[in-house]
Amino acid sequence: MQVSRAIAESTADAAHQVVDIMRRMGVAGLPRNYEIFYEAYAGCNEKLKKALAALGERPDQAAIDKLARDYFAATNRDAIVETAHESIMDKIEEVMDLLHREKNSLEKYGVILDKTSAGLNGKQNLTTDLLRKIVGIMAIATDTTIEQGRQIASSISDTSAELAEVKSMLVEYKTLADTDPLTQIWNRRAFDRAMARIYEHNKGIIFNALILADIDRFKDINDRFGHPFGDRVLQHVAQIMKAAVSANMTVARTGGEEFAIIVEGLTEDATVALADTVRGHIERTPFLAADGQGARDRVTVSMGVCMASEAGGPQDLYEKADQALYVSKTGGRNKVTKFPVAGPSKQRKSWMLYRTE
Ligand code: GH3
Ligand code: MG
Ligand code: MG
Repeated sequence: MQVSRAIAESTADAAHQVVDIMRRMGVAGLPRNYEIFYEAYAGCNEKLKKALAALGERPDQAAIDKLARDYFAATNRDAIVETAHESIMDKIEEVMDLLHREKNSLEKYGVILDKTSAGLNGKQNLTTDLLRKIVGIMAIATDTTIEQGRQIASSISDTSAELAEVKSMLVEYKTLADTDPLTQIWNRRAFDRAMARIYEHNKGIIFNALILADIDRFKDINDRFGHPFGDRVLQHVAQIMKAAVSANMTVARTGGEEFAIIVEGLTEDATVALADTVRGHIERTPFLAADGQGARDRVTVSMGVCMASEAGGPQDLYEKADQALYVSKTGGRNKVTKFPVAGPSKQRKSWMLYRTE
């Protein structure tokens, strides 16, 4: 317990240091920037630190993105895909070798059958002795071929079991790459893909919707109870959301303290009701400090809802739900607002880790 708290606190220190470095370098407070800076500075990756420093003061966002893409691709995806590729190539070679052996063995068997049948055809007066000899040769050849076939079948079955392992490794990797490590729900990457799917071939737009949720005054929660407590709140909120929706809906952490639900199969009224149920659950959940006592606090979320049919594409849907969320924020928080919103609306930069303006 003590150890895990110490680890949590040192992680939080490192997180603050990283944010501080980003701020001093004039880097935008985007979670994706944080990811690469954390990797460089908290992980003490000298090579990556140098590469980031080489971008200079107030670096160009496109340059940071390129560096992050290259770095993470090189360290994660490519390495695993390459290992899987190598194993698959090895297994294919093994299977080809086995099939080659099977072909040779059958060819040999064929030659023996040809020879013996030629022997039989040529002879007018077959003695019992000769017949016995020929049958003996054929029996041995048949047994050998059957046994070789059996061995090859067993090798092929071993190889396919190994290939199944490679497959499950790739599936596991894919899940990891799409999962938010803190909350264990889908991350932004998976969310973006699910959003794009709504508009693919215009399928499913009618009963799809987006609910965006942003924790209210989360900075205060961190400031009053510490970053590790804030992390626990994020985990609880994620679990409450996941438990409230059906399995076919995507629940994702899209940014620091921002979450999203991609709703499927509900009308607008039912979607708003679902959002309000989640909001109410969160409001009623007591959040305790790590030791199970003290620091009891009420956590609330503000929400924005937009039906997919109100928007022309994933980005538009996100922006419209965000406009509705902004109205919930300015209207007193702990609320659900649906798009279209009344009066002029402004888009928030809710995905920022900190604001520069
Ligand atoms: P509002 O009600 O307007 O949304 O206010 P807010 O304080 O929730 O919003 P703001 O954007 O000012 O602050 C969000 C805070 O979330 C700042 C950042 O330090 C914190 N945060 C972002 N990611 C994490 C995280 O992974 N863990 C913790 N503990 N805090 C995080
Ligand atoms: Mg917030
Ligand atoms: Mg926010």
